[in-house]
Amino acid sequence: MIKVIQADITTLSVDAIVNAANTTLLGGGGVDGAIHRAAGPELLAACRKIGGCPTGEARITPGFKLPAKWVIHTVGPVWHGGDRNEPTLLANCYRNSLELALKNGAKTIAFPGISTGVYGYPKDQAAKIAVIVMREYENKFDEIICCCFSGGDKALYEKVLAED
Ligand code: ADP
Repeated sequence: MIKVIQADITTLSVDAIVNAANTTLLGGGGVDGAIHRAAGPELLAACRKIGGCPTGEARITPGFKLPAKWVIHTVGPVWHGGDRNEPTLLANCYRNSLELALKNGAKTIAFPGISTGVYGYPKDQAAKIAVIVMREYENKFDEIICCCFSGGDKALYEKVLAED
């Protein structure tokens, strides 16, 4: 089942939350900063050991102080106008995160809107890609959650899910 909620992703008691990280995995602003603050300094130490992640791929760490058991760190593409493979890279983020979740036995997973903050991906196009990939995996999970930070984002996901 795919579910849309409005929440701060760091508060969710799910098996895995997904982080919109950068290639260094050493923390940043937005949802990445919020996740690192809530998980505590052990998360940064775990990320440092991993040593980075290419765009479109995903890596997993424990959630440490978070209610979530795991954090899956994925690196979304920076939006350059759409002709630099952004759609494929963004779909890869969702697919690789879901595969890593399955491999680690996660049954519930929550995603923020990868690339839709500082990385500038148009939110409607990003939501469509997210939902297409989530649909491919929904039967393998109890819940795939679209965790929206704003009411506007929640309305957008609800519209995309209703149309698809
Ligand atoms: P990116 O660099 O991939 O664009 P951002 O963190 O800047 O990542 O933004 C990704 C999305 O996460 C945005 O839609 C933003 O509104 C949302 N966001 C920011 N903080 C949180 C949070 N605590 N919980 C859920 N979503 C969040």
